[in-house]
Amino acid sequence: MRRCAGCGCWEYGGAPDCARCADLVYLIVQDGWRDFLRVWSGTAEPSAEEERAIAEMVVEEPDRHDWRIVDGALDRLSCAGCGSTLGRGPRGCPPCDLADGFRYSAIETDRPNVHPRNEHAVRVGVSVVRSGHRYSARALLGWRLGLPFVLDGFLPSTAQAQALRARINDGATYDDLADLWSLPGSS
Ligand SMILES: [Zn+2]
Ligand SMILES: [Zn+2]
Repeated sequence: MRRCAGCGCWEYGGAPDCARCADLVYLIVQDGWRDFLRVWSGTAEPSAEEERAIAEMVVEEPDRHDWRIVDGALDRLSCAGCGSTLGRGPRGCPPCDLADGFRYSAIETDRPNVHPRNEHAVRVGVSVVRSGHRYSARALLGWRLGLPFVLDGFLPSTAQAQALRARINDGATYDDLADLWSLPGSS
C-alpha cells in the first residue's frame, strides 16, 4: 500500500474528493471494461454508438458478466430518470436504484492469493466510494478506510469490521483510523 501524492491518504482512500484517488478507483472498472471490449468487439475503442450497444447488452444480463464489466457498462449509459450515469444518480431515482441493485447479480471472481470473498469487498468498496452521495457519511468513511486494504488482499474479520464501525460511530476520523489494520496485532 502506498500513500497518494495528491491527498496523503492510502491510495484509493481519498476518493471521491481526491481526483487522483478517484481516477485510480475508476481505472479498476475501466480496465475490466476495456479488456472485455477488446475480446467482444476486437477493439478496446469501438465507436461510441457500438460501445453503448454493447453496454446495453451487458446490463440486460448482469449475471453473465464480471462485476467490473457490468459497472463499466453502466458507466456508458445515462439514466432516463435523472440524467446521471445509470445507477449513480440520487437515491430514490427508480431507474438508478434498480440498476444499482441489479449490478450485484454480476459475477465476482477472487483474484489469486487473496481471502475468499475478497472480491466481493472490493466491488462493494468501489461502488461506495464512486457513488458516495448514495451512502451515509459513515458508510463512505468506512469504505475509504477499507478499500485500500481489501485491494491489497486483506479481508477484515467480522470483529475487525465491527470494531471499525464502532470507532466511526464514536466520531473517529479518517486520520484516526487510517492505520488501524496496518499496525501489528491490530484488532
Ligand atoms: Zn488521493
Ligand atoms: Zn437516475
